[in-house]
This record gives sequence, structure tokens and C-alpha cells, in this order.
Amino acid sequence: MMKPITSMEILNAYKVLDGKALSHDEALALIRTEPPYLMDLYSLADKTRLKFSDPHICTCEITNAKSGACSEDCSFCAQSARHRTNASVYPLKSKEELLEAAKLAETHGAGSFCIVISGKGYEKANEEFNSILESIRLIRNETGLEVHCSLGILTGETAKMLRDAGASMINHNLETAPSNFKNICTTHRIEDRMNTVRVAKTVGLKVCCGGIFGLGETVEQRVEFAFALKELDVDSIPVNIHQKIDGTKLAESKITLTEILNAIAVLHLINPTKGIKIAAGRNTILADYQGLVFHAGANGMLIGNYLTISGRDIVKDRQLLDSLK
Ligand code: SF4
Repeated sequence: MMKPITSMEILNAYKVLDGKALSHDEALALIRTEPPYLMDLYSLADKTRLKFSDPHICTCEITNAKSGACSEDCSFCAQSARHRTNASVYPLKSKEELLEAAKLAETHGAGSFCIVISGKGYEKANEEFNSILESIRLIRNETGLEVHCSLGILTGETAKMLRDAGASMINHNLETAPSNFKNICTTHRIEDRMNTVRVAKTVGLKVCCGGIFGLGETVEQRVEFAFALKELDVDSIPVNIHQKIDGTKLAESKITLTEILNAIAVLHLINPTKGIKIAAGRNTILADYQGLVFHAGANGMLIGNYLTISGRDIVKDRQLLDSLK
């Protein structure tokens, strides 16, 4: 049985505010925080966010530009061709359709627009990849939005082409701790994902890289995941909370609200200068507590719909943002 955290251990963690890093054992003690110290942990994460990260809640919107029929077997994903789900299956949208979606995102107040594609990725340019490049150029010319891309595994060559077309950031999630990855995907390796992050950074793209809590990982693996992102020096960290989708292999997550908030707070304390964006699971699993997450280390959220799950009414999200000012 683990010993409960002490007030001295929480106080010791205030060293993060002085720019000092947490050790693995210190982070592990913090992620196991229980009442009556929960608010002390969240308060420290909030102070750290205000000191080191953008204090404003930033928003971004994604579009599922090509859906389903993916060759990979990620056990949580509705878009794997190996799962029988109700997720839509369609080929890459035209550049005109993507421009229209980007313009709509701009009217919602999004600062960036992310083109998301199902599939393993692009090691070389092909017709589909070239069409994505054209869409990026068009959106950059016709809107004030930053364009981000989530296209799976990239090489130095394809990452450079995205940069040259005007993309400023790629999203490629680790999804989970390196030691848990083989339990959720067998068709590619965590090293392939880590390598994509490295090549994107090498060519000068910013990288948004995070994952999903509730994929059967242990508390230790949540800490391992946070340190893996620190080592990769990613720019922004999206966090999803697993929701079982009918037809996928992975069982319903048993993660509790306290575990989620503790994981987000510790993820932030390990990566204090990086923004944490809350995506899927925000309006369903966090539900009435979603405002609290922005006082526990998070400073951004995905608005609009997620890839295969409907999002929340934009008006309600605007009200939430106003109430957090
Ligand atoms: S997470 Fe990406 S790579 Fe994995 S099955 Fe889904 S679309 Fe394919």
C-alpha cells in the first residue's frame, strides 16, 4: 500500500515555480495525491500555468478531412478498418470543402485549424498528400488561421513539404506511455511516433503531441508518459479521456475524475512551459467539472466536433471561456 502524500511533499513541489524540475519519484507521489490535498496540487499547477504558460485559454478546431478505413489497429480508435463501428468512412475532402470548414472555424473564434487524416501516414508525397499541400496553401491565403496537420507518421521529406506549404504545427500523439503502447497498437511502434515528432521539430515545425488517459495505463505510466513528452520537448500537449466507442476493442475506461485531474496537474508540473489542451472527454467525462481543469494546469481546449465524437455547442464553450476570464 502506498503511503499518502504529505503537506511537506506538496510544499517541496513548489520548487517548480523556481524553475526546478520534479524527479520521477516526486511526480509519482504527487499524482497519487488524495483528499485533503487535492486542491493544493491543483492550486500549484494553476500558479505554474500562470507563471510559465499562456494565461489565456486558447482554442483550436479540427476537421476530419479523411475518415475511417485505416490500416492500423489502435484498439481505442473508431477509424481502424479492423473495427466495426459507426464512424463515417470517406476519402480526402476537396480543398474547397476544407477551406469552407476553416472559414467556419474562424467564425467560431478558433486561432488555428487542424486538418486530420485517418491512416498510418505519409513517408513520401503522393496524390493525396499533394492535395493536402494545396489545401494548406489555400487556407493560409484565404483566412487568418494558423494551419496545423495531423497526418500520421511523417519523414523529414514530407515534414519539410508541409512546412513549405505553410503549415506551422503538426499533431502526432504518443497516445500513451511508451511501455503501454504495445498494448494498444501492434501495427506500428511507439518509436515511429517519436521519430515523427523529432523529424518535424528538426525541420522547424512546432509539434502538438499528447495522448489519451484511460487506455488501461497505470499511474506510473501516466508519469512515464509525461516525462516522455518532456524529453521530446513538444510544444503543446493535447489530452483526451478515453470513451469507449461501440465496436472498438478497448474496454471502457475506469479512470476517475480525481485521477484525470491529478494526471493533468502532474503532466503540467513536469512540462510547466507547455500548454495543455483538453479535447475528447471534456464535455462528457469531465462534464460539470470541465471548468476546474483550467485551474488544474490546462490552458486550452478543442472546440467544435472531435474526430468521431460530437463536441459541445460552441455557444456553451464561449460562455465557459467568458466565465474563466
Ligand atoms: S489512431 Fe490513427 S493510426 Fe490508429 S487506427 Fe486510428 S486513424 Fe489509424
